[in-house]
Amino acid sequence: MSKYVPDISSSRWVIIADSRENRPDEMNGDLKPGGKCPFCEGNEKMTPAEVYRVGNGNPGEPGWEVRVFPNRYPITDFHEVIVHAPSEEDLHQLPLAHIEKVFQTYRQRFNEYRKKGQVMIFCNRGEHAGASMIHPHSQLVVIPNQINLSTLNCEPLGNLVEENTYFNIYCPDFSQWPYEVWIASKVKNTFFGDITNEEIRDLVDIYVRILDRLENLYESKNRTSHDFSYNFYIYPKEM
Ligand SMILES: [Zn+2]
Repeated sequence: MSKYVPDISSSRWVIIADSRENRPDEMNGDLKPGGKCPFCEGNEKMTPAEVYRVGNGNPGEPGWEVRVFPNRYPITDFHEVIVHAPSEEDLHQLPLAHIEKVFQTYRQRFNEYRKKGQVMIFCNRGEHAGASMIHPHSQLVVIPNQINLSTLNCEPLGNLVEENTYFNIYCPDFSQWPYEVWIASKVKNTFFGDITNEEIRDLVDIYVRILDRLENLYESKNRTSHDFSYNFYIYPKEM
C-alpha cells in the first residue's frame, strides 16, 4: 500500500512505497551478464501476468508487439509496465508504425484508468534518467484525484521549435530540466485519452524528429559518451 506524504519544503507530494526496496537494478549489475531479461520475447513467464498486448499470440506467450503487465514493485495501487517492443531498440528508433502502436497502447491504458484517478505515463531512458531495466519500457501509475499533482501549466508558446498539423513543440521560458521541450496539442480542452489515430500519427512524427535532434545535439557535445538519457511523461490533466 502506498502512502502520500506532503513535502512541506517544496509543497510537493512524496510517494512512500516500501516494496520498491527489493527491486533488482539491472544498471547496477543485479542481473548478471548472460542472465535472462524478463522483458524480452520468450521470457514472458518471468513477469506478472500480462493485462494487455498488441500483436499475436496468447497472454504469457511470444508473438506480441507491445506488452503490458503490473509492476512487480508498485509505487501506487495501480502501476503498470508497458514494454515497447520485443527487441531492445529505443522507442524513437523503432519503425513509425510500431511507435504508433505504443502510443495507441498509452491511450488504451490511460482510458482504462482515467475514472480511477490521475493517470501518469512516463518513460525513463538510460541510467542517468533513473531507468533500472535496460530493455526500453514505459510505466503507468494512477495517482488519487485528491492529490494535487504539481504538473506545470502550459505556458504561452514563446520559443517554437517545430510544428505540424496537430502539435507544437516549444521550449518553456522557465525549464525544470536542461533541454526541456514540450509537445503540446493544438486541440484545446482535451485529455491524452481522447487523441485520435490521425493525431497519434502526427505526434509520432514530431516525437521522432525532436528526439533525433536532441540525440544529435547530445552527441555533438559529448563525443566520448554514448549514454543519451532522457525522461518524458504524458500530461495527466486536461490541456
Ligand atoms: Zn530485454
